[in-house]
Amino acid sequence: MYYDELKQIIAKATQEGFNVTCLTNSFWCDEYEYVIKRLKELKALGLKEIYTSMDVFHREYISPNKVANLLKASKEIGLACGLNILCVKSRNQELFSILEELGDAIFNVKVSVFPLNVVGKQEELIQKNDVADEVSISQLKCKFNRVLLINYDGDVYPCCSNYIKAIPCLKVGNIYEASIKDIVHSVTKKFPFGKIIMNGICNIAGVVKENNLMTLDDTYIDGCQLCKDIFSKEHVTEELKKLLG
Ligand code: SF4
Repeated sequence: MYYDELKQIIAKATQEGFNVTCLTNSFWCDEYEYVIKRLKELKALGLKEIYTSMDVFHREYISPNKVANLLKASKEIGLACGLNILCVKSRNQELFSILEELGDAIFNVKVSVFPLNVVGKQEELIQKNDVADEVSISQLKCKFNRVLLINYDGDVYPCCSNYIKAIPCLKVGNIYEASIKDIVHSVTKKFPFGKIIMNGICNIAGVVKENNLMTLDDTYIDGCQLCKDIFSKEHVTEELKKLLG
């Protein structure tokens, strides 16, 4: 959809010395030769890895054949690729049929299985007890792994959390307004991301509780869900900005 912009971003980020990876749902991967052509172009511009997704939710809209085309084509041209699978407890057994449908396309592919992050419309559709077991706040950590997310509109976020759209205050810049290098250099100075990294999300939850800024649950699926609970609320974010300096 934004292929020309994608090519520009990959080329620019590569020139600036970054490792560029890309995540696609493979909706465009009907024709194998077409996938080969596009991946070759992206690899030549500097793309290092490509990731796609398949699970019970994607399968309703994206044919497994498209995902298989992407994985096979990546391997054929020597581009590292990975497959992300989201799961809910009640449909775990369907994981096997998904892998079966992808056939030998998954050989030598990095497969990662993640618990579903319930966000947006899913909050109405998914039962709370159908997602991964929750853990207490004191054990939760920010899952930042030095991967920046560049959105289709150029907005840059400091992580690839599935909750990112619900936490707009995490935006650290826009590539149409600043160079990627400048954004990267300032990322840990931005509020609230810098404070999350420095203090830890569980300690920020402690500040929220001590100052009665909002009611928190005792447990969450992961640090990102806690992060969303806190920083999706504008008034809580504003108060924390004053308290954390
Ligand atoms: S805790 Fe917040 S900043 Fe850290 S990875 Fe999750 S959403 Fe991103």
